[in-house]
Amino acid sequence: MINNVSPIREGLFSVDWQQDFREALKSLSDLENYFEESFPQIPYSVFIPRPYAFKIKNAGIDSPLGRQFLPAVEEHRPEGLIDPISDELFSKGKGIIHRYKNRILFTPTEVCPIQCRYCFRKNELLQNNDVFKNNLEVAVNYATFHPQVEEVILTGGDPLILANHKIEEILAAFSKVKTVKMIRFHTRTPVILPNRIDEELIDILKHFSQKLSILSLVIHTNHLSEWTPEFLLGLQKLRSTGLNLLSQSVLLKGVNDNWFDLKILFSSLVSNGVTPYYLHHPDPTKGAMHFMISREEGKSIYKKLKEESSGFLLPHYVIEQPNGAGKVLALKD
Ligand code: SF4
Repeated sequence: MINNVSPIREGLFSVDWQQDFREALKSLSDLENYFEESFPQIPYSVFIPRPYAFKIKNAGIDSPLGRQFLPAVEEHRPEGLIDPISDELFSKGKGIIHRYKNRILFTPTEVCPIQCRYCFRKNELLQNNDVFKNNLEVAVNYATFHPQVEEVILTGGDPLILANHKIEEILAAFSKVKTVKMIRFHTRTPVILPNRIDEELIDILKHFSQKLSILSLVIHTNHLSEWTPEFLLGLQKLRSTGLNLLSQSVLLKGVNDNWFDLKILFSSLVSNGVTPYYLHHPDPTKGAMHFMISREEGKSIYKKLKEESSGFLLPHYVIEQPNGAGKVLALKD
């Protein structure tokens, strides 16, 4: 309950990131009490750590932050796909998805630091099927017996929400597989719970950056207004580990569907040592169709961004092909 939280702490990340995680707003009534607004009942879960809720409240419920994280009546719309990128088709069970020849996805957790309303896995994660029921031993065996697998991508959920000892265990296990040269994290945690980037995690990342050919961390951020001073501090610490720091963003209607906001986001990433990697065209996801833009709109935004930006600021603008055939450049044809 908000009443149990000291006003001095409101808006500040605590020293203990797990405390912020435990005290998050987790229900519609939590949200309504906190924001002093009513929100529609939705068939999906809500989860916002309180320091981040404070930031969203200050930005306003119709801001790019509010639109990304607060429930909307449009989540009831029936159109869209349950599994828009066909994870199920490429699932080997136990949290392993093998879509591309030389790399596998492993989802060590279904938990996230926040619930993004546009999430392309929002229905899949609800289904509680075998796709995300992870087992590290099975995944390590899978990589061992598929020597074409050079890279393991840890996604979810969000792998950085795991405890340090668990992250260390996962990195240690995959780095023992001779043919695995690269490990990559996909994460939103440094933005939402920047206090999670603690010294112990930094030491673990430093260690495995030296051990592996390439250790990458791909930070998911869609708009500059998501950032905090604590996030920038976290980036500095992450840069000190020597890992390959990349970003991915999703083009979202009403959030960042204009070249100017994207230019500011990508140039700020580069200024802070992060290479913009992917700009994803939104996937046609059930419950998130209100974030869709057309391919034509997306292409026109990216073309203008390209005209207005130096080449090194530009991520690849990509779109998932139907039936899980993988990503292709969205600007083509
Ligand atoms: S952090 Fe990623 S996986 Fe989790 S809800 Fe947001 S978009 Fe989905």
